[in-house]
Amino acid sequence: MTKELFRENGYLKSCEAEVTSVLDKGFGVDQTVFYPMGGGQPGDTGKFLCADGLSGEIVDTYKDRESGVHLHVVAEGTTLPTVGDKIILSIDWERRHRIMRMHSCMHMLCAAVPEPVTGGSIRDGSGRLDFDIPEPPDKQAIEDKLNELIAADLPMSLKWITDAEMDAQPDLVRTMSVKPPRGSGQVRLVEFSGADLQPCGGTHVARTGEIGPVRVQSVKKKGKQNRRITVEFA
Ligand SMILES: [Zn+2]
Repeated sequence: MTKELFRENGYLKSCEAEVTSVLDKGFGVDQTVFYPMGGGQPGDTGKFLCADGLSGEIVDTYKDRESGVHLHVVAEGTTLPTVGDKIILSIDWERRHRIMRMHSCMHMLCAAVPEPVTGGSIRDGSGRLDFDIPEPPDKQAIEDKLNELIAADLPMSLKWITDAEMDAQPDLVRTMSVKPPRGSGQVRLVEFSGADLQPCGGTHVARTGEIGPVRVQSVKKKGKQNRRITVEFA
């Protein structure tokens, strides 16, 4: 199992780690700052550097569900480190920060459109959520509300509750397709003060002002009463 340093602090850019497993495409470590693909958020990219000078690009990160080990996938042709190696892991911070900003913006979108969410995903530069709403929403009104919430510079805070407390409050779950990360007996709640509170395992900015201005790229009909709202940076 890999210790997830980004859970408590999404602003960590690098860390020391020990290689615990090596596979064809990459390696596992004891702890990491690399977010693994999941919850609609892409896996981190970046670099590794060994004490002996061996280095390489990490092109993706994902979590092995059974072992809980984060696999750091390397670029093709990269010489892999060996088990027991001490390494330094550094994420591509510019990319991750854009993803953190857009991910946090999706929480604002939940606040701006108080309807059931049926799915969603975040890419580098844009993000989308699908809502279960029969009538087409007002694109400009959503954009205005988003930018208002962002400009309000609302602080983000994290809170941990038990699985049992989570079960007692099913209303907290906004996204029907993404189950809150569980299994450890604890669920992490992410709150943007006064706007949005929900369980989420992703990485977020400390204040909404950091998201910066956004625009609603499109509102599309997907299925009978699904509306897909896509947002990008303005
Ligand atoms: Zn989140």
